[in-house]
Amino acid sequence: MNKNARIYVAGHRGMVGSAIVRSLKAQGYENLIMKTHAELPLDDASAVEKFFEQTKPEYVFLTAAKVGGILANSTQGADFIRENLLIQTNVIDAAYRHGAVRLLFLGSSCMYPKIAEQPLKETSLMTGALEPTTLPYATAKIAGKVMCDAYRAQYGFDAITIMPSNVYGVGDNFHPDHGHVVAGMMRRFHEAKLAGINEVVVWGTGAAMRELIDVDDLAAACVFLMGREDIDTMINVGSSEEISVRDLAHLMAKVTGYQGDIKFDTSRPDGAPRKLMDNSRIERLGWKAQTSIAQGIQKMYAWWLTTHA
Ligand code: GDP
Repeated sequence: MNKNARIYVAGHRGMVGSAIVRSLKAQGYENLIMKTHAELPLDDASAVEKFFEQTKPEYVFLTAAKVGGILANSTQGADFIRENLLIQTNVIDAAYRHGAVRLLFLGSSCMYPKIAEQPLKETSLMTGALEPTTLPYATAKIAGKVMCDAYRAQYGFDAITIMPSNVYGVGDNFHPDHGHVVAGMMRRFHEAKLAGINEVVVWGTGAAMRELIDVDDLAAACVFLMGREDIDTMINVGSSEEISVRDLAHLMAKVTGYQGDIKFDTSRPDGAPRKLMDNSRIERLGWKAQTSIAQGIQKMYAWWLTTHA
């Protein structure tokens, strides 16, 4: 990618898209194309077609998606599969037909089977049944990955898929029900501390393990991989650092200064028991995550306090 390349970041207001924009700008890429949802609804095929015809981006970061945590996924499955299939189908196809040089599609670790050998290698994809709580979303994301590979095979289109571990950080969704575990817990612990409440409820048994990656590390990896032509299919991008939901709760109490009790609501699902990825492929290319979970959560809390709390 040269510094003047026309780069379209689809989903630039989202957590990952906005981090990619920060990373691109910091590295001197200036020619960025960004459209808000209102300006360009990506689930509208004719609007997407017109946009690509007019702007002809050379590089496309496809991070736009309908995303959410375990509760949102298990209650709005129809919206998750419909919106994601539409967005990714429209963007991948239009990018190919209007001559994009390369497209990077953001996948999700819930695409991996619920039960698979850990750490999860790229070759484990589609070797087993998926976790039911995220089935519609994961199915859409798998379709996007297969679409990238099929467009490469049939048309020679250079599309790759990034498989991130659970992402958290600046720009996260703090909605109490719809967000992911880190932001959801951060909000609950913070609010309990402010209100002087002595019990915080954490969903599930606390036994689930999650590999967490700071969004700025993921964004740096996306920009790095956009320039790596030797990668021609899906690649894992994780931190290789995992934590149990229970330990995360204790870390969150420490970071927010909450000193009350922590209760586990076992009537809530744990989701996948463990999702550690094998990151040896990207590490062999010379990339490694820079931020530990403890550092990343401190950084996120500091950012959240200044902007939202
Ligand atoms: P997942 O990785 O797709 O399962 O997505 P999440 O990040 O939403 O959830 C991960 C795990 O965190 C599950 O085991 C949940 O039960 C647990 N968890 C505990 N408290 C919370 C919370 O406040 N919000 C969310 N989303 N998950 C929580």
